[in-house]
Amino acid sequence: MLSELPILPQTREFVARRQRMLIGDQWLESSSGETLDIRNPATGEILGQVPAATAEDVDRAVQAARQAFEDSAWSRMRPRDRQNLLWRLADLMERDARHLAELECLNNGKSAAVAQAMDVQLAVDFLRYMAGWATKIEGLSVEPSLPLMPDDQFHAYVRREPVGVVGAIVAWNFPLLLACWKLGPALATGCTVVLKPADETPLTALRLAELVLEAGYPAGVFNVVTGTGVRAGAALSAHPGVNKLTFTGSTEVGKLIGKAAMDNMTRVTLELGGKSPTIVLADADLQQAATGAAQAIFFNQGQVCCAGSRLYAHRKHFDNLVADIAGIANSMKLGNGLDPSVDMGPLISAKQQSRVAGYIDLGRQLGSTIVCGGEAFGPGYFVRPTVIADVDQKHRLVQEEIFGPVLVAMPFDDLDEVVRLANDNPYGLGASIWSNDLAAVHRLVPRIQSGSVWVNCHSALDPALPFGGYKMSGLGREMGAAAIEHYTELKSVLIRL
Ligand code: NAD
Repeated sequence: MLSELPILPQTREFVARRQRMLIGDQWLESSSGETLDIRNPATGEILGQVPAATAEDVDRAVQAARQAFEDSAWSRMRPRDRQNLLWRLADLMERDARHLAELECLNNGKSAAVAQAMDVQLAVDFLRYMAGWATKIEGLSVEPSLPLMPDDQFHAYVRREPVGVVGAIVAWNFPLLLACWKLGPALATGCTVVLKPADETPLTALRLAELVLEAGYPAGVFNVVTGTGVRAGAALSAHPGVNKLTFTGSTEVGKLIGKAAMDNMTRVTLELGGKSPTIVLADADLQQAATGAAQAIFFNQGQVCCAGSRLYAHRKHFDNLVADIAGIANSMKLGNGLDPSVDMGPLISAKQQSRVAGYIDLGRQLGSTIVCGGEAFGPGYFVRPTVIADVDQKHRLVQEEIFGPVLVAMPFDDLDEVVRLANDNPYGLGASIWSNDLAAVHRLVPRIQSGSVWVNCHSALDPALPFGGYKMSGLGREMGAAAIEHYTELKSVLIRL
């Protein structure tokens, strides 16, 4: 049974459908006929199947994207028309917001209400922000010196051109939003795209492909290949016809993609894992900090790349703060994300559930204190929101990304110490500081090794602010003007007059 809870007829029909992937203007099965099961994480039941793309399918998709990139319908399209198309796509997503949110809920487990308000709305806002960039891509003119040709005159300028065919590979935690983070700058700059959604969560990518066609994009501008990372993802990363790879996922796979990219000199940006600190200073508003720290780790079941998964609280507040966060955790209702009264859904898969439970067991074995939660249960892939205290900074629990609703908490005594602890980690994606001491905040911000620092908020992303990682959290930035740079090449033109 799909769901006892009410869902839109449109959603029911979409999930019941035999899924195919979009390559050029055709909806295709895998060339091998193989399929991949997709599940509802709230029940563990199989929702349906999608094609398991082969290297041959990926090659076809790259060729379709290449043809569309070179075709005049797209390559000569005026910036204003690219802007309008992107805006139209955003309108269609807004029209179908509830439907898209339900698909995300069924396939990922997250709350449909939250998916509608956050995932879909942020994706719509992001596409509209990027639509604005289509008409603002500028080169520059330069006055050359050329000392060896003193008597000649020159005209020199620099063009900013679309990088070409973009291979986009994304994770399962925000399937639609992550796809739009790639699609927005690619379509604003005039690139074409082959998207490989995560193995577990292809549904909204396939629906997005329908909306792209409905918006009026030429065939081949957007292609979707569903399937596994090891086959379809690896084939896309190694394809010499791809000009730029953009990846969101684990650091482990990011390294493989980076190496594959270098073999073809493919441009590459990597948005990878994190183990972001939440730092609560001595003067912080404790109620605000407790609510903020709980949201920072428990939002989206803790499956957020920049989740605040390490809490460093000033020693004088440590016990109270941990107790308050545990109180919030204990009050959270877990269940099916279609139920609007539910605060936390399941994790994505049985594998992820046992991985997260494994880290909690490790904490127990080490004699750490499980302050709250600590339990995994089914049916479905649930883990109760968990806070672990009495942990050692050097331990795997503090150093590794758990990617679940598990917070490790440690006290500190002074600013130098918390800077050292916050930076003592391979990742550097996000960090939050909770304080009203302006001088202390400004002293800390430059010392934190992290692509984003939030003050009195956490994981607050805006389309205009570059987002990405220091250290093992990645290469390059998404959003803002930085994204446009990553989807374009510079061409210097020198004309002797
Ligand atoms: P993952 O790396 O296992 O998979 C991500 C994508 O890579 C999937 O589409 C998968 O099919 C594909 N893939 C897997 N193996 C591949 C291979 N050998 N070659 C090419 N592609 C391959 O990550 P995940 O488990 O889906 O997602 C969780 C990770 O993503 C976490 O580490 C999280 O922090 C990270 N993440 C980062 C950001 C960010 O913006 N920095 C955002 C969301 C998630």
